[in-house]
Amino acid sequence: MTGSSNQEYAARWRASLTDNYGTPAVALVRGAGAQVWDADGRQYTDFVGGIAVNALGHAHPAVVGAVTRQISTLGHVSNLYASEPVLALGERLLQLFGRPGRIFFCNSGAEAVEAAFKIGRLTGRTRMVATDGGFHGRTMGALALTGQPKKQDPFRPLPGDVTHVPYGDTAALRAAVTEETALVVIEPVQGENGVVVPPAGYLKAAREITRATGTLLVLDEVQTGTGRCGHWFAHQAHEGVDPDLVTLAKGLGGGLPIGAVAAFGPAADLLQPGHHGTTFGGNPVACAAGLAVLDTIAADGLLDRVKARGEQLRSGIEGTGHPLVSHVRGEGLLLGIVLTGPYAPQVQQAAQDAGFLVNAPAPDVVRLMPPYVLTEDEADAFVRALPGILDAANGDGRTGE
Ligand code: PMP
Repeated sequence: MTGSSNQEYAARWRASLTDNYGTPAVALVRGAGAQVWDADGRQYTDFVGGIAVNALGHAHPAVVGAVTRQISTLGHVSNLYASEPVLALGERLLQLFGRPGRIFFCNSGAEAVEAAFKIGRLTGRTRMVATDGGFHGRTMGALALTGQPKKQDPFRPLPGDVTHVPYGDTAALRAAVTEETALVVIEPVQGENGVVVPPAGYLKAAREITRATGTLLVLDEVQTGTGRCGHWFAHQAHEGVDPDLVTLAKGLGGGLPIGAVAAFGPAADLLQPGHHGTTFGGNPVACAAGLAVLDTIAADGLLDRVKARGEQLRSGIEGTGHPLVSHVRGEGLLLGIVLTGPYAPQVQQAAQDAGFLVNAPAPDVVRLMPPYVLTEDEADAFVRALPGILDAANGDGRTGE
């Protein structure tokens, strides 16, 4: 059977697939730029972007071309052999980091964090420090670092010896990190926790604290990296922050599954042959897509566009003055509309009804993570539609309590 409506797709899903986030009510069949179409023929502007993955939007010719050329030439080799795309992407990433180092390629964010976890163990220390509310993936090591008990509890005992401290709290970090701490892992902006931005100086303090104890500073840039926050990597907006390890995934492949850990300084020598590996890591097609993404971001000036669209959305949304909107937080095109109450699920549904896909990572936060190619008009259309969406989410159009 071929699904031909959203409903039919949902029935097939229920019959055969696991309900990771519940059965999807909408089946997407086609996309172009920031626009997507569902199985019922409805069109949406996509502010979810495959959970912050589709940096260049849907069906970008640069990605289509790179993938098509690569799969027609050499689809997969494993790390037993070198190939041009994996080398070129590794070299390119180091160039963008602006520091010598070494890159380990894998296939997802969780795998990148898992590799960082193992590199941490190679220091000879076992203790790790992560943050409350932080999200680092669902594999067992990454889940141990994740600071969300609801996701962790069904799977205890979790590996490692992980202490969680309040995010953004420098004093708590200083108290938790000792000379027995292998690594500290921090997101420059907490994405899954509702787009939480730490106080200015937090990353710099984390660098100073970890340096003083010989602890690896791991910045999890799976969500914030490769342009999402208006810089190649979000930490580059912060002076004096030079992490030992950076994890990447999501936007790097522009829709193809790829993850990476970049290691710098002495940390770059910890992983030795035989320590770690994965069959698909560094896959030439995924790496060719990654190169196309990075080339296009540079060639089309997309970092500036991310900043401009982010500011346009932020000021436009705050400018609505709608009583359901408290404020907007985030960086670049990773934005959280903080609501005055737990209305995010209703806003998500009302936005969908109005032709906009958004996401609700917390009861009172609506997250926007659209493609970097989002146009001024598309951003403007969302801002103009938002008051109506919020009124609809609020039931009868009345606002407030
Ligand atoms: N780290 C961060 C910061 C993330 O946002 C995510 C995914 N939301 C992950 C790790 C895990 O990535 P993946 O889902 O690709 O395993």
